[in-house]
This record gives sequence, C-alpha cells and structure tokens, in this order.
Amino acid sequence: MKIVVLEGYTLNPGDLTWEGLEKLGDLTVYDRTPEDKIVERIGDAEIIFTNKLKITREILEQTNVKYIGVLATGYNIVDIVAAKEKDILVSNIPTYGTASVAQMVFALLLEICHHVGSHDAAVRRGQWIDSNDFCFWNYPLIELAGKTMGIIGYGRIGQAAGLIAQAFGMKVLAYNQHPDKSMESGTLKFVELEELFSESDVISLHCPLLDSTKGIISKSSIAKMKDGVIIINTSRGPLIVEADLAEALNNGKVYAAGVDVVSVEPIEADNPLLKAKNIFITPHIAWAPIESRERLMNIAVENLRSYIDGNPENIVNR
Ligand code: NAD
Repeated sequence: MKIVVLEGYTLNPGDLTWEGLEKLGDLTVYDRTPEDKIVERIGDAEIIFTNKLKITREILEQTNVKYIGVLATGYNIVDIVAAKEKDILVSNIPTYGTASVAQMVFALLLEICHHVGSHDAAVRRGQWIDSNDFCFWNYPLIELAGKTMGIIGYGRIGQAAGLIAQAFGMKVLAYNQHPDKSMESGTLKFVELEELFSESDVISLHCPLLDSTKGIISKSSIAKMKDGVIIINTSRGPLIVEADLAEALNNGKVYAAGVDVVSVEPIEADNPLLKAKNIFITPHIAWAPIESRERLMNIAVENLRSYIDGNPENIVNR
C-alpha cells in the first residue's frame, strides 16, 4: 500500500522519524508540494497526508485516494463533502499541543511584561556597563498578579491558559458559547463578551475561526476595552481585523499585543501589524515544540493503523 506525505517538513524538519508510517506501507515523503504537482505526486497512492495544502474535489477526481490524514487539527483544507461522496475517509489530529500553545500565550505575555529579549540586547550593547545604577529598564515593567485575563473560547487550550493565569495570581473571565458553570471558582467566572471586553487587562483568543468569530477583535470591540489592554492571539489570524489592531496599538488604546498567527501566512510584507507599535509577532510556532510534534506524529500513525485494522479513529467525515 502506497503512502504519500505531501508536505512533511513542518512536522518533521529532521528531528523526528517517519518510521511509524514506514512500517505501515510503501512511504514517500515530500518536504513541500507545489499545487500543480499534487496529482502527479499522489500517483496511484491510496493513502495521503497533508497539512495546509488544499485537497480539492478536482484532485480527488483525478486520483484513487482512499484515506486522507490531515497532520493538524483544522481540516478545512480538505473538501470533506467531495471526500465523503467518494467514500474517502479523512482523519485529523484532534489534540496534541494544548500545553505548548498555552505556554506560548505566556511566552508572548511575559515578553510584553518584561521585554527580556530587548533588555538582553541592551546589556550586550553595553548599557548596563555604562549604567550609573545597579539596574535599569527601558520599558514599563508589568506584574500580572491581581490583573484580569479575559479568555475567549474556554476549550482545551483556553482552560490550560486559564490555569496558568490563575497560577500567576490573575483573575480569569471566560467567554464560551456553552459555559460550564461548574468550573467557576473565586478566580474564574464565565461572563458575556461585553463584560469580558470591559473588565479585562489582558485578552487572549482561543475560540475556533468561524463566521461568527471572524473579526471578533475589531475597531468596535476594541472601543469597549480598557485603555491600555493587552491582546494575545495564538488561535487564528482572521479573528483580528489587523488594520484596526494596528491603529489601536499606534494610538495607544491597546498597550501591546502578541500574535503567533496572522490573517495570511506566511505574513505578507504589507501586513499593517508589521509596522505597528509594541507588538510581538512569532511565525506560528505555538504548536511546534518537539514534544507536541512527536505526539502529532504518533497520533497520525495510530490513525492510519486503526484505518488499516478496520476501526478508523479520528475520522471527521463519516
Ligand atoms: P477546543 O475545541 O478545545 O476549544 C475551543 C472552544 O471555543 C470550545 O470550548 C468551543 O465551545 C468554544 N467556541 C466555539 N465557538 C465559539 C464562539 N463563537 N465564541 C466563543 N467560544 C466558542 O479547541 P482548542 O484545542 O482549545 O484550540 C483552540 C484554537 O487554537 C483552535 O481553534 C486553533 O485555531 C488554535 N490552535 C493554534 C495553534 C498554534 O500553533 N498557534 C495550535 C493548535 C490550535
């Protein structure tokens, strides 16, 4: 049975092994595949793995694929309706990086609070050697204890971020479509979006990208926030209207932002966030610590094994 991985590089740039998939069939791994080579590279393979590459109806009609493994949680890149019509099973990796993404929220937030990278650079430039005092700082320093963190989307990652926030001594206001009030405590409360916007010092996005959540951070929602709010986005870029956030950063309404995702990835040269004040942008790395990628690889292998054994798991288009 032929297995083709169409884009393997981001999952395994060389620090993991493809052994698990190799044991299940005749494996070919491509680091990346240009769109016009997808059909040719699939050839007569029954099993394909993709990550962000679109698998369209047209592609499915020109190949004999029986199983598509998406090497990610989001599977919107596969035409699952067309796949179902052709009896092709599509699997995803429902969860693998909860801890990593929650940790990244705080990597971004702590950078905003302490500017570690910039202070280290200042020390190496000689600013401490030349300092009149035993210390100096180039930015306001911020303590999180006692502040309020608003978390939009209180699912797996939102809850993990909420626990860390509480460990820092923060109060958490959570907004979820279906709030589980049994989770509430002295430091965690479910609220409506309006209250979250008006009461939070830090707002972190953890809801999925849907028509109803697209642009949830915009000029009008920012207007409802506290002056000097901090915004963190490790979920999906289009949750934020980037031109509106850039404007609010530049005029100081939003004190700072940390984003790991943007509306178009890789980021485009004219993205307004690139020139905005006080924003930290990372290249979609929250999912990528080796522990998370290893988990992702193992689940992808187990998904395929379960399909071969006749009990397919994590199928999204039954
Ligand atoms: P999850 O499904 O466990 O949680 C999402 C939560 O959002 C659920 O509780 C759901 O009820 C809630 N929700 C749905 N619609 C909502 C709405 N309209 N308003 C408010 N809440 C709503 O998902 P998760 O594992 O916590 O992942 C959250 C997001 O993180 C994913 O959608 C994905 O976009 C993103 N993610 C990013 C990275 C990265 O590398 N940056 C990695 C993994 C996941």
